[in-house]
Amino acid sequence: MSSVVLKNIVKRFGSYTAVHPSDLEIQEGDFVTLLGPSGCGKTTTLRMIAGLLDPSEGEILIGGKRVNDVPIHKRNLGIVFQNYALFPHKTVADNVAFGLKYRNVSKDEIARRVEEALNLVQLPHVGGRYPKELSGGQQQRIALARAIVIEPDVLLLDEPLSALDANLREDMRVELKRIQHQIGVTTVFVTHDQSEALAMSDRIVVMSGGRIEQVGTPEEVYNRPRSEFVANFLGASNILDGVCRERGAETATLEVPLFGTVPVPQDKAAGISDGPAKLVLRAEKLTLMDARADITGMIAADATVETVDYQGQTVRYFVRAGDRSFQAINMINERPFPEGSAVKIAFRSQDCAALPG
Ligand code: ATP
Repeated sequence: MSSVVLKNIVKRFGSYTAVHPSDLEIQEGDFVTLLGPSGCGKTTTLRMIAGLLDPSEGEILIGGKRVNDVPIHKRNLGIVFQNYALFPHKTVADNVAFGLKYRNVSKDEIARRVEEALNLVQLPHVGGRYPKELSGGQQQRIALARAIVIEPDVLLLDEPLSALDANLREDMRVELKRIQHQIGVTTVFVTHDQSEALAMSDRIVVMSGGRIEQVGTPEEVYNRPRSEFVANFLGASNILDGVCRERGAETATLEVPLFGTVPVPQDKAAGISDGPAKLVLRAEKLTLMDARADITGMIAADATVETVDYQGQTVRYFVRAGDRSFQAINMINERPFPEGSAVKIAFRSQDCAALPG
């Protein structure tokens, strides 16, 4: 396994810049996810690491060595694509063995390693079958076995789960993480699915418009977003324009419309100075309460329910308070608030974050 470093990497297609100057350090053995909406440059970044695309500027280091001029087959990478790309006319065992046949590995060694890889993906008995005789999830495991059998320095995964149905995708998340843990390979995973990224990653690289917006652990990017984009891409947030009045050792005190004074924990208010600031209120942290409820310890405002959107275990409300609308995602209790009801919307100050205004 190896570290991966991108130094001031840029990718242009003609006059269009798909990846603006970006720096990134991926530690050995980490599971790092490139996360962002369609077109933000995730796949382009991954393809540059793979050697499928040449960067327009900058350097790529794998295991401390510059690989800009090293062709893909000499980078010792395992790659899995969304569409599996298995050879249909080869057996599963031959598919998995493919990468080894070009590496001067003896027949016995190939057989042993193919068996080991199939065991690792928990499909020990399918070596003699053809890809079309397997389900989508099984084919995806074979693609993974083929990628890891060569004992790659880095595993690159480009939306490998997106062709699977929802249940299978959840199972494969767990499975993929287990395998990555077991072999400890440095992994770069591309997805636009935030829940996938939060569930699987050691660190998440949030991208937008060809730029890296934030790099951090799932907990960091979720609870301490550094931009409005990150606050909204990882779940829904309500963002209020306000003013920072004071920065103490423990809190930054924001003044916002409707709610008044909100002391935001210092670690969630990085980069804030006195003057314009924004308050980030996650939809899951905004609770609807009865209009007469005791709100001790919370910060609250009166609101009216406009829309109720059932989502299984949770319900998403759109409510109006003052001259704006708020989104709140709450667990379903016995009787959700109906449309038109008068409620309080409330939150705890420790659940907020602040951004520069
Ligand atoms: P998706 O999730 O849709 O795959 P992405 O974040 O992976 O999106 P990229 O595939 O990296 O996005 O594309 C980034 C931008 O670069 C897009 O606007 C895309 O149209 C453009 N682009 C990608 N490849 C090429 C190419 N070969 N020629 C021209 N433009 C390209």
